[in-house]
Amino acid sequence: MKEKCRFCQNRDLKVFLKKKGRNLVECKNCGLVFVSPFPSENKIRAIYTKKAFKKFDPADKTEAGFGHYLAEEHLWKEFLKKKMTQIQRFKTEGKLLDVGCGIGTFLEEAKRARFKIYGVDIIDFAVEYCQQRGLKRVYKGTLTDSRFPSSSFDIVTVFHTLEHMWDPSAFLDEAKRILRFQGILMICVPDRKSLTARLMGKNWFDYYHYQHLFFFEDKTLINYLEKSGFRVLKRGKEGFNWVLAVRILSGMRCCYSSPVLDKLAQLVNDFLKFSKITRIPMLSGSMWIIAEKK
Ligand SMILES: [Zn+2]
Repeated sequence: MKEKCRFCQNRDLKVFLKKKGRNLVECKNCGLVFVSPFPSENKIRAIYTKKAFKKFDPADKTEAGFGHYLAEEHLWKEFLKKKMTQIQRFKTEGKLLDVGCGIGTFLEEAKRARFKIYGVDIIDFAVEYCQQRGLKRVYKGTLTDSRFPSSSFDIVTVFHTLEHMWDPSAFLDEAKRILRFQGILMICVPDRKSLTARLMGKNWFDYYHYQHLFFFEDKTLINYLEKSGFRVLKRGKEGFNWVLAVRILSGMRCCYSSPVLDKLAQLVNDFLKFSKITRIPMLSGSMWIIAEKK
């Protein structure tokens, strides 16, 4: 295989999965799994159109995974509140940038915690929505597009976004550039070595989430961070979590397009909203890392 690992440049890649139109390879050196052949930047940008963020239509694969952020915001809020608490163990004030801020759920949390907040997102709809809810310093684009000044942030967060990027290494370099000395970076991504992923094996729904281009395990991500000039301060797995009754159903719904799953996810979501239950123990399959700029 001529292709190189998109992280360590190693050429020793093996086919990891070839199913349902998905083609994933695994680097034998660093453990990174990624889509092959890798789409062009333009092709990836085109996924994130306004239309893609609108209502989910199971018949249209290009819309998978986005339309429900609005409907599920109450659940994400709980998840992100916990992330805020984890950050506050290291920093309690300063400038915070959320990359891939979506509809601004985490920025609202950070605002309440009195951080000076900034956001970027590639989707027009998300940026417009943030502006409408009063989050004025939210800009459209990727982190690299945004050209923030060097050493200007205390915290950069990236929740369930790194796996969508076409160049995670470039993102880490840019995050390092804009962070102040000892500024912190918090990453949260699906964990391909989580219990959910292990139990589901190659049927793990995340592998079929077609906006996801990279699949990490903790050792790969730590390696990435250290090579990019960060020191890992704390990390963990989302053991028991409550967003996920709906998230997992949504994930499965996106990947398997079943009207039954769609209905079921809707019912569970409506029930949770109605009953105001936010804590449902469920293995989420994601991990988080807090690292500091060296
Ligand atoms: Zn590699």
